[in-house]
Amino acid sequence: MSIMRYHVVTIFPNMLDSYFAESIISRAVESKLIEINTYALREYTTDKHRRVDGKSYGGGPGMVMWVDPIINCVEKIQKKIARRKTAKVLVVIFNAGGDMFTNTIAKSSATKYTDIIFICGRYEGIDSRVKKILKAKEWSIGEYVLTGGELPAMICIDAISRQIKGVLNDDLSLEEKRMASHEIYARPEIYEYKNKKYRVPKVLLSGNHKLIDEYRAKKENTIGKKIKTDVSKA
Ligand code: SAM
Repeated sequence: MSIMRYHVVTIFPNMLDSYFAESIISRAVESKLIEINTYALREYTTDKHRRVDGKSYGGGPGMVMWVDPIINCVEKIQKKIARRKTAKVLVVIFNAGGDMFTNTIAKSSATKYTDIIFICGRYEGIDSRVKKILKAKEWSIGEYVLTGGELPAMICIDAISRQIKGVLNDDLSLEEKRMASHEIYARPEIYEYKNKKYRVPKVLLSGNHKLIDEYRAKKENTIGKKIKTDVSKA
């Protein structure tokens, strides 16, 4: 089984450390199912003040990330990857206006590529020529504007990694496929809050798995449905 290698280009490489040091993703790294490499963009600029951004042509507020440091950095990553003859590489730029990242994309990316290079924008975003030169995809993680591409990179790495065989244990991966109900309950059976009793639906306590499955199928909410459809299309 080949390992999935992520390469994250960012001006804040430390931001990713604590998230990836825990839980399922850190175990996937330890098991050599995935590898997460970060690249500090400021190390690839030729500017003597280590700047990676400048004013926008045509005016407007905010700075634009320069082409040169990004291309320098990505070329070095690509050279390193090219030593492995069978590598299949995807380059992704994060952009709030890009293609919406979904579970379908997560699943197909997990099977199609051995290496994914993520370029995290900051400020007003990335000079548009980067996309053309690198033939990159542009992904958005939602219809809102964040301060940078680091959170999107973490989200995409998490979602793609869950689709890689062996990353989830059997129970979790079954749950992922089933995605039967958005309504879930654990102890206690009755939770009292401000004089009101909140009960677990009786059917879930019945031990009758046929009835439980029917109930969950009925309760499936829009988000569950959408994700399930996406997965089945991939
Ligand atoms: N005015 C810019 C715009 O509307 O796209 C704002 C750029 S934002 C402050 C800085 C960077 O954060 C972007 O270049 C992009 O890399 C990342 N980003 C922000 N929102 C995002 C989203 N919803 N999905 C993916 N990346 C996002």
